[in-house]
Amino acid sequence: MQTNTYAMDESYALYEQSKETLCGGVASNLRSAMKPVPLFLESGSGARVFDVDGNEYIDYILGYGPLILGHSHSELLEALSHRLAAGQQFGMQHRGEIELSRRLVQLVPNADKVAFSGSGTEAVMLAIRLARAYTGRSKVIRFEGHYHGWSDVIYTAFPMNAEVSASDMTALAGTNGQSAHALEDIIVVPWNDKDRLEAVLKKSGNEIAAIISEPVLCNSGCLHPLPGYLEWIRERTRDLGIVFILDEVITGFRVSPGGAQERLGIQADLVTMGKAIAGGFPLSAVAGRREIMDLISQGVVNHMGTLNGNVLSISAGILTLDILNRDEGAAYRHMEKMTERLVRGLKALLAGHGVAHTINSFGPVFHVMFTDQPEVRHFSEFLKRDAAGYSLFVEEALRHGVVLRPSGLWYVSAAHTEKDIDETLERLKIVVQRLFPHRA
Ligand code: PMP
Repeated sequence: MQTNTYAMDESYALYEQSKETLCGGVASNLRSAMKPVPLFLESGSGARVFDVDGNEYIDYILGYGPLILGHSHSELLEALSHRLAAGQQFGMQHRGEIELSRRLVQLVPNADKVAFSGSGTEAVMLAIRLARAYTGRSKVIRFEGHYHGWSDVIYTAFPMNAEVSASDMTALAGTNGQSAHALEDIIVVPWNDKDRLEAVLKKSGNEIAAIISEPVLCNSGCLHPLPGYLEWIRERTRDLGIVFILDEVITGFRVSPGGAQERLGIQADLVTMGKAIAGGFPLSAVAGRREIMDLISQGVVNHMGTLNGNVLSISAGILTLDILNRDEGAAYRHMEKMTERLVRGLKALLAGHGVAHTINSFGPVFHVMFTDQPEVRHFSEFLKRDAAGYSLFVEEALRHGVVLRPSGLWYVSAAHTEKDIDETLERLKIVVQRLFPHRA
């Protein structure tokens, strides 16, 4: 079947130029995975982006998650241009910091106090440091397939196949150059498996400073916790004096005003947030119980950063949360509705062409997997998906005007309209017909 696909000549040319002076030609390693070429963008508006070749795309990467209001939200732009005219960075205090920290204390369950940083990675580093200082212990339990940023204190390699996943896992370096000492303090356990975690807790419970978990495993298949699993971790950590950290860098402010804690009815000791909090400006936060957070107030735990509390980011945070929460959370209802429409359409489209798939969602974030497993609930099952087949789908989608992450994770913003969703499905119909013609 002959269809028109996008030409990306200028992106190819710029990528070659970029590689001469910018490491890998991209600013974050993951971005080099985009096929056929890492796209160079000119602009974005609402749910759409425009590349240097003049192509227009419907965007489900959304800046890797932060663009919960879409690109260039008019109110955000106007407020921030006024703000910018009065200075962009003080390195001193301003009222906005008080205002945003109050908003967070109101919105986020169990948040007595707040600390701001610039990225999710930094927020996780701070949360782990707080947990170590609070408990006087050094080891941290994390789960396989979860992602908590790229710092030495928590980054590990992802197992690449189900056999490795099933075996006992010591923390493997996520990269050359990672401190071996840092890795010695990390214990990796399969998620959603009480027995395996209980075995570690029995053996080393009194050495563990923190257990860190994504509330729903958005980074690997949008896997939900099995009923009672997080509640059980909550109880066991309380019993053993371990700090329970929920990493809400993806889910915070995205799945509900109070994040996954509110949606799942669970309360951690510390929560890390980033991405959606400031609608695309660099900002992250740690929030949690007073007695832990106060270690910063007391000067017992150091927390620094030149750009912490940056005026533009904080202003963007206040306005983003205001827009999300106005009209009794209309933006949240809209995102859910658009996501349902999209997921329903995708399922029908894939099923209609005999493409075996499973889609797991959590509010306006979902994961599409090509697999014949009707349910994917464990990371070992996630590893069995047809990742290569899905990559081809993502590449073909790009050539037809839909930007997706090769990992399978999709974000929907408050700017996505029914028209965007329906047009996405029309474009993907051509993609599916091209890739799976014999199955129609
Ligand atoms: N935690 C989670 C759950 C994440 O998904 C990410 C980023 N994808 C991070 C932490 C790290 O955030 P950042 O990229 O802003 O450093």
